[in-house]
Amino acid sequence: MGDLGAVLGRLDDIRGDLTDLYKDLHANPELSFAEHRTAAEVARRLEALGLEVTTEVGRTGVVGVLRNGEGPTVLLRADFDALPVLEQTGLDYASTRRGTDPDGNDVPVMHACGHDMHVTCQLGALDLLVAARDRWAGTIVAVFQPAEEIGAGARAMIDDGLFGRFPKPDVCLGQHVFPFPSGSVGMISGPSMSAADGIKVTMFGRGAHGSQPQNSIDPVVMASATVMRLQTVVSREVAPSDTAVVTVGAIKAGTKDNIIPDQAELRVNIRSFDEQVREQVIAAVKRIVRAEAIAAGAEREPEFEPLHDFPVLVNDPAATDRTTAALRKQIGDRVHQMDPVTGSEDVGIFGTAAGVPTCYWFFGGADEEKFLAAKQARTLSRDIPSNHSPFFAPVVEPTLTTGVTAMTTAALEWLADR
Ligand SMILES: [Zn+2]
Ligand SMILES: [Zn+2]
Repeated sequence: MGDLGAVLGRLDDIRGDLTDLYKDLHANPELSFAEHRTAAEVARRLEALGLEVTTEVGRTGVVGVLRNGEGPTVLLRADFDALPVLEQTGLDYASTRRGTDPDGNDVPVMHACGHDMHVTCQLGALDLLVAARDRWAGTIVAVFQPAEEIGAGARAMIDDGLFGRFPKPDVCLGQHVFPFPSGSVGMISGPSMSAADGIKVTMFGRGAHGSQPQNSIDPVVMASATVMRLQTVVSREVAPSDTAVVTVGAIKAGTKDNIIPDQAELRVNIRSFDEQVREQVIAAVKRIVRAEAIAAGAEREPEFEPLHDFPVLVNDPAATDRTTAALRKQIGDRVHQMDPVTGSEDVGIFGTAAGVPTCYWFFGGADEEKFLAAKQARTLSRDIPSNHSPFFAPVVEPTLTTGVTAMTTAALEWLADR
């Protein structure tokens, strides 16, 4: 396809509406598998665009199909769930929503990962592609995926017959907003995002009065020692040439200062890019937990419960080269190469299940001036909030324009010219 100026020019007509949509989604985030309002809004907009719409694919997922003659089938994927985070951005469209987490707790909810931007950009791209349908041929399968944050949504949609009920794709495309300068796009070829495993660990002690520690087996001390010892897995057991992360993201025990509780819970998150390293780290974590329980004299073995697991995301090198070249033509030298990231994604499950290449890229959401100033001052980690931070707030522009442009351009690259 030649010049996309005319196709992308329509963005000027819909930018205002997309901005309103983005702010509305941001103010109304929903937790994984509870994205009912979001799904309804997506379905309504897809119908208005004339796509064949199916809701409740993999519980709350939405699929829109746009058939436009003989040609390749391209899967476009946007995820749409939010996180149990109390928003502190101070934006006038900040979320004040609450939800119920899988354990039944009332929690704040925030689009702290930018999935609201993904939905907005994909709907914008679909609008442009519908308007330009005389210029391309093929089929678009637009996937709006629930529950990415718990690593369950892609699997749920596939288990619900995604590739039997809808056209099977030749390529899977998707994008994620990231804390680098808005207006730029980052590409990674090959293993791009780490595998992630979440494990709930329960350590058992013996409860007692806080004044009589001799009658207890203190799970708080047991858990504390475990957390400290777990810090040695990556630093002492993993080769410096391999990449792994072990984070204890949650620790829970007790109710009151003068009661020694009878158990403690740790939630451990493990990242890796290599299956052998992954197995090695998981084994080390379990070994240390068991050993600390023995060291404390625990009378009951610790328990391990998997919370989620994400596979490594592998960007097909040939598909990434092709997509990168198309994006460079449109966006220029603001398309750059990135190193692999230790974030995780379940988007790769689509391509793996369909047996086709995946290309998943990143687009910037950080205010460029602020980013460059922070980079200069070496305060990026303090001043530029990352995904999942209560302060994560992509600037709407040029983030939205870049996301729509990238998604539209990539889709047209993989569809046939007319
Ligand atoms: Zn996330
Ligand atoms: Zn995300």
